[in-house]
Amino acid sequence: MSAKQFILALDQGTTSSRAILFDREGNVRGQAQREFRQYFPQPGWVEHDAEEIWRSQVAVAAEVLKTSGIDASRVAGIGIANQRETTVLWERATGRALAPAIVWQDRRSAGICDELSAAGWESSIQDKTGLILDPYFSATKLKWLLDHIPGARERAACGELAFGTIDSWLVWKLSQGRCHVTDPSNASRTLLYNLERQAWDEDLLKLLAIPRELLPEVRSSSEIYGHCDPALLGCALPIAAIIGDQQGATFGQACLSPGMVKNTYGTGCFMVMNTGARAIASKHRLLTTVAWQVGGQTDFALEGSVFMAGATVQWLRDGLGLISRAEEVESLARSVPDNGGVYLVPAFTGLGAPHWAPHARGALFGLSRGSNKAHIARAALEAIAYQSADVLVAMEQDSGMAVQEMRVDGGAAKNDLLLQFQADLLGVPVVRPRVTETTAQGAAYLAGLALGLWSSKAEIARQWQSGRRFEPGISEARRGDLLHGWKRALAQTLAWAGNS
Ligand code: ADP
Repeated sequence: MSAKQFILALDQGTTSSRAILFDREGNVRGQAQREFRQYFPQPGWVEHDAEEIWRSQVAVAAEVLKTSGIDASRVAGIGIANQRETTVLWERATGRALAPAIVWQDRRSAGICDELSAAGWESSIQDKTGLILDPYFSATKLKWLLDHIPGARERAACGELAFGTIDSWLVWKLSQGRCHVTDPSNASRTLLYNLERQAWDEDLLKLLAIPRELLPEVRSSSEIYGHCDPALLGCALPIAAIIGDQQGATFGQACLSPGMVKNTYGTGCFMVMNTGARAIASKHRLLTTVAWQVGGQTDFALEGSVFMAGATVQWLRDGLGLISRAEEVESLARSVPDNGGVYLVPAFTGLGAPHWAPHARGALFGLSRGSNKAHIARAALEAIAYQSADVLVAMEQDSGMAVQEMRVDGGAAKNDLLLQFQADLLGVPVVRPRVTETTAQGAAYLAGLALGLWSSKAEIARQWQSGRRFEPGISEARRGDLLHGWKRALAQTLAWAGNS
């Protein structure tokens, strides 16, 4: 048996870079994490320093090897999971970023999206890419950079510059400029990738005046793209997986068959449903995206996000001062038997899928003289579950598949009350895995498949272990009453915002 028993997973997130070592049983054997700076130069703008991302990422990789006592010579290879859509433009000759990275949250290209929409491009862009025309995705960010950096478009056309999402940037840096690659899970978030043809879309490149010379080669999500420079970590480790963070978590949760769903409860919620070989166009404003491409087979997914999930708990803490730490919300909410008729619609920043109501704002309904802070805490937790249930119903309707269970992760998935209520609402079990580092684990599994640590997706599915399972425990009638209350609250919230 090979002595190389470990995979180094790099989890490059929006606020921190992490490195986690996994063994071949899928256990975490060491981890290191470093936060990096967020820049908000103007309202609606969010930037990262691409060089700082790189430095923090390579530093945590070196750190985890050191602190775990696992030498790089025992590592079979590297897998990368990354924040998606964030856009980097760099100079090929020097490997230097030409501008700050434009982060997925950045809205500066809203005007470009408005122009495309006014010119009637929206539905054709959705047909081609599976995405909604929104500044969130990379292409209009890249166009903005080419429009605003003097000479950039001309230099790009001459092949002097490179574009990439964070995965491409990291592989370029790791390989010292030898590999300029991405994978379909990331490419399908750029608004430039044709889902049906599984290639960069020439029409969209032309429409946005993006020279093709800028683009990375699209390879699969699990293969050896190249090796990292031996000076970096002590060994020329193969780089063997690239996956967008949400798709990585879906893989790490072993949602490997059509109809399987994972939901990540972080600041917001990200729900992803595996739809297998079918790219399903959504009728409910969900996104259609590539899940991963492994061994010549592309799997697709439907994705929906909720803006305020764990952030609702932060609001209870920071906005209302009802709790001093996020985890206190559970005992406060448990101090009452139910919501007492109180509903919170946390549309503080509008509503995401499936409503997409940017102008909606938060609302609290059903207060009586008996209502107290515990009811509000309970309503806040329940709102996270209601919003997730709305996304799941949209997924079931789009896909025609009935979900059998939902696998969950993220910071707020530590909350047992929330997960029990989620199971009650959905009428299917909610399952929290034993290993909750699902994003990094997905990257590790994909790399391990390419490197022979795991032989097949089936083996990974068998290895995945449930930590705790929450079974639905209320009657249909009670579920109907609860959902009815939520729907009324939602309808009133949308009406108040002028959205219905
Ligand atoms: P992100 O990756 O988006 O930064 P995390 O997965 O780290 O998010 O989760 C952090 C979020 O989870 C915060 O919004 C926090 O309020 C929430 N959170 C943490 N612990 C709990 C808990 N026990 N119950 C509910 N929410 C929680």
